[in-house]
This record gives sequence, C-alpha cells and structure tokens, in this order.
Amino acid sequence: MAHHLAIIGYGGMGSWHHQNIKEHIPEITVTGAYDIRPEVEETAVKNGIHFYHSLEELLNDPSVDMVTVATPNNFHKDLVISCLEHGKNVICEKPVAMNSKELEEMMAAAKKSGKLFSVHQNRRWDKDYVIIKQILKDQTIGSPYFIESRVQGSRRSLDGWRGYKVNGGGMVYDWGVHLLDQMLDLIPSPVVSVDAHLFQIFSEEVDDNFKAFLRFENGISALVEIATNCFINQPRWHMSCTDGTAVIEDWECNGKMVKLSSDEKMEWTNDIVYTAAGPTRTMAPRPVHTTTQLALPEVKTDWANYYKNIVDVIDNGADLIVKPEQALRVLNVIDAIFESQQTGQSIKCHI
Ligand code: NAD
Repeated sequence: MAHHLAIIGYGGMGSWHHQNIKEHIPEITVTGAYDIRPEVEETAVKNGIHFYHSLEELLNDPSVDMVTVATPNNFHKDLVISCLEHGKNVICEKPVAMNSKELEEMMAAAKKSGKLFSVHQNRRWDKDYVIIKQILKDQTIGSPYFIESRVQGSRRSLDGWRGYKVNGGGMVYDWGVHLLDQMLDLIPSPVVSVDAHLFQIFSEEVDDNFKAFLRFENGISALVEIATNCFINQPRWHMSCTDGTAVIEDWECNGKMVKLSSDEKMEWTNDIVYTAAGPTRTMAPRPVHTTTQLALPEVKTDWANYYKNIVDVIDNGADLIVKPEQALRVLNVIDAIFESQQTGQSIKCHI
C-alpha cells in the first residue's frame, strides 16, 4: 500500500527523515511538512514537498496517513496526541516524552485511535550495539555480569534548544535515551536500582555529562555514560562476561574479545610475579598462552529497517519492533535517574 507521510518539525532530523525515506522506503512518499518557523517553507518547497502553514491544515489533510514528529522534545506529547486523534499513524522522535506520565497519556490516545504509534529509536540498528547483541546470543564469552556503554565527546556544546530545560535539553534526554533504550532492550530483566550522577560542567540549565548505574534483578549491572567534556575516551562498549571480555572501541567497531583458552592442558603456576608495582599473585598479567583472542562477529544492520518495520506493521500486521511499552520502561528509568540526582540516593525500583 502507498503511504503519504507529513513531517512536523522540518529541522535537522525532520529533513533527515525526508531524505532517508526517499532513499530507502519506496512504500512511503513524504508529501509535506509543518514547522513553526515560516522560513522553513523555502527549504520544504525546494525539496519538492508541500509546506503546511498551520498544524490544523496538516491534521485535516485526509491524504496524509502517517506523521513523523521531529520537534524539540517538550512539544512531542501534544503533537503526537493531536495526530492520533486525527487518525494518523505516528512516529515520534526520541525521547518520545519528557517523563513516563506524558507517555502514558500518549499511549492511551494511541489505544483509543487504534493507530500505529512508535518511537524512532534508530540506534537499535547501530552496528556496535548489534555486535554486542550477537555476542550475547552466541554466548561466545559466557554470561554477562557488567556492561559498560559510553559515548564520549569533548565539544562542550549543547546546540540550540538542547541547552534549555523547558525544551527537554540535556544529555540524559539526548544521547542518554539511546543508550538506555539499547541497554534495556539487551537485558529484559527488571531494573531494581538506579544510581545517577549528573553534571553541569558548562551548561547553566541542564546536564551536560552523566553516569547512571543500573542494577538488574537477574544480577547483571550496567553503566551508561554520556560525556561532552571528555578528552581521553574510553571504549564505546566494555562487557565483562564469566568466560571473557569484549571491547568495542569506537563507532567503526574496532575491538576484540579475549576469553579463557579452552585447552585444559595449558597449565601455569600462580607464583608471585614481580611487576613494576611490586610483587603480586592476583594482579600479575595472565600468561598470554592461556587466553584466546577472537574477532568481533560480523553483522549486517541498517537504520532503514526501522521504517521497513513500520510499513510491515501497517500493511501486513507484523510485530512492531520499537514498542511504546519499551519506551515507557526507558522513561521510567529516566524518571529514576532525575530522582536519584535530586535526592543524591540510589533509587530502588522494579522497572
Ligand atoms: P532542530 O532544532 O534541528 O529542528 C527542530 C525543528 O522543529 C525546527 O525546525 C523548529 O523550528 C521546529 N519546531 C519547534 N517547535 C515546533 C512546533 N511546536 N511545531 C512545529 N515545529 C516546531 O532539532 P533536531 O536536532 O532536528 O531535533 C528534533 C528532534 O529529533 C528531537 O526530539 C531530537 O531529540 C530528535 N533527534 C533524534 C536523533 C536520532 O538519532 N534519532 C538525532 C537528532 C535529533
């Protein structure tokens, strides 16, 4: 079936959605856009689409069956609900809402409308994340017990609305929501505690760096970190498993796994070793021949799979990959992150 999609908020990400759909999703035609800045009309028309001069004009256009909302975060809730009430299928940018209460209202509107509602958590299709998922699926290095996921930069900037509290600025909402979505997708076991440390190194209103420790009911712990003031980066992923360790250094997915050698006969003595830091048995480097280094698994992934799934859900009743219920779990954790920062305490929960 041919779908006609309109975009609300035709800025950086809104125009990316247009280009992405044009290149990869033949079933969807982007026909129009609405933006509160009238000057955006010129770009929209140049890109061959209609510019709506009001939200009502878009909502009342019967030819539009899908809407993508890509405005600053604080506008998502009202816009998504209006679209659903006008019978549109809705895709909303992340973070879908400012808190779990807002999302619950949106989910109620989606239920009432019977229309599709999903969140653009495109980083579920990032190569580094898909590799981590594959390692766990293959159980190559045993079971995980501590997973560290970091994105670190040093530009010390929160562009435009991202620096304002009222717009839902800050790094927890911006990159944090991606890393939390990945971590919760990876570990279905309930989160039982959240301990967060938010920093304002240069921003006057919002967190510009943060670390959050999550404890899961099944015994796994995770660290999620976003930095904009880090001048020596740690790996994108560091995963400790019972039989080995996996590291993904960067977005190019340089990295490796090192595991205990499976050759039982490779014995070695646990004698005291004289290191640069003095004598030690426990921390002396392990003899190299007792370990095996493995390449990271090869994976194929593509952000376009997000919209392919959306089309498949509407046309063929396929299972929705990014479900509002999953976004609600993420927002519940984000609520706990802000509560932890405010109280200075670890928050006990069951999320
Ligand atoms: P942006 O500032 O580049 O664009 C936002 C646009 O929305 C602007 O053109 C602005 O005029 C318009 N706008 C503001 N309020 C509006 C309203 N009430 N109604 C209609 N239009 C309005 O911001 P951006 O970087 O494109 O971010 C937009 C959204 O996309 C945010 O929610 C952000 O978190 C998300 N985003 C997601 C990703 C991703 O990888 N999934 C990447 C970047 C941004």
